[in-house]
Amino acid sequence: MIGYALNISRMAKQITTRRRFIYNAALAGVGLPLIGASGFCNGDTSQQNLQKQNPDNSNKLGIALVGLGSYATHQLAPALQQTKHAYLAGIVTGTPSKIDTWQQRYSMPDANVYNYSNFDEIIKNKAIDIVYVVLPNSMHAEYVIRAAKAGKHVICEKPMAITVDDCTAMINACQNAGRMLSIGYRLHFEPYNLTMARLGTQRVYGAIKKIDTGFGFTIGDPTQWRLKKALSGGGPLQDVGIYSINATCYTSGQVPTSVIAQEGPKTDLQKFAEVEQSLSWQFTMPDGYTAYGKSSYAENYNYITAYTAKGDFGLTSAFGYNGQKGFTPDGIMQLPAINQQAAQIDDFAQCIINKKATIVPGQLGRRDVILMQAIYESIYTGKSVAIKMPDG
Ligand code: NAD
Repeated sequence: MIGYALNISRMAKQITTRRRFIYNAALAGVGLPLIGASGFCNGDTSQQNLQKQNPDNSNKLGIALVGLGSYATHQLAPALQQTKHAYLAGIVTGTPSKIDTWQQRYSMPDANVYNYSNFDEIIKNKAIDIVYVVLPNSMHAEYVIRAAKAGKHVICEKPMAITVDDCTAMINACQNAGRMLSIGYRLHFEPYNLTMARLGTQRVYGAIKKIDTGFGFTIGDPTQWRLKKALSGGGPLQDVGIYSINATCYTSGQVPTSVIAQEGPKTDLQKFAEVEQSLSWQFTMPDGYTAYGKSSYAENYNYITAYTAKGDFGLTSAFGYNGQKGFTPDGIMQLPAINQQAAQIDDFAQCIINKKATIVPGQLGRRDVILMQAIYESIYTGKSVAIKMPDG
């Protein structure tokens, strides 16, 4: 809990303390980043060296993406073209047909291409410093642990895992290997969400009396892994509701003490045979107020509002890759748009380089898995569930 409070304090300090939200683009002090062949592994170190010798990459940490799906392809790989402290050095994929395109697009040597079977050989590859796990949720634990055992620092996508025990095993594996673990919580580096954290934790408009947040979207393809419980761990809560939970914690600077939750109606029994279609929850916060949340795979919304005696502040477009919009009692927020993923990755690379703790460690990922499990437990039992976080 204390570690979490410190993280929030670090997060909030990244923002200037101006009350008026007519920010200029410089945003000093925000800690913004800085935006500034094929075949599987064959040990071809000459190409690998050429890649490292590229002056743009020489001082950067090499990242290998594990899982070349939508997020890796459309967000992370492009973001890695903007990072200053890390670069896209390798890939791990179970789909050989993707390899040529990735190698050509990102000038990647054969030596840095792996599949799920030979992945552990990455231990020998000095060009890869960080493994970034971007697989379906239930696969995160295995690949984070294998990456740690191969001596790599790890970024794991959200949700960290589908069980609390898996989270603990992942944290322990990285600790035992002496490697750092972070979660792909991009919004901890995004100016509008950082502003929510600062306004809430510094009580700029006084104590929070209520929080209301939700994230939902209409899901497409009925065959996708997100709708299969064994791979996803659950429905919209795991996928996007987690952002509302995370935002409740960083806006309040607190972790809920109990929760009561309800599953929403299922209008499509076939599509949502294995997971919830929608749900809502009410957290009791340590200060005594209620933080309301909801999530859905059948409705579109994406917001957070914090209510205080001096007025409300919030984000009407809160959790997307871009397009954030926000307001306070003093007016609308005007903050720069950044590449969130580049900011997140660069921060982690700098943490490794400077031997500094990440603000989005495995413990934070586990905290959110604990909160999500409490929500499910409340739905199944129909009762309020007390929330207890592990020490450390
Ligand atoms: P996706 O379905 O587009 O990609 C999944 C990848 O995993 C594919 O390359 C697929 O081939 C591979 N895979 C390996 N084994 C698989 C299996 N048994 N079933 C299905 N796919 C398998 O998913 P995505 O949207 O890229 O999501 C991947 C991870 O990233 C998830 O954990 C998700 O929550 C997370 N994510 C995070 C963000 C964010 O904003 N931080 C956004 C999107 C996704």
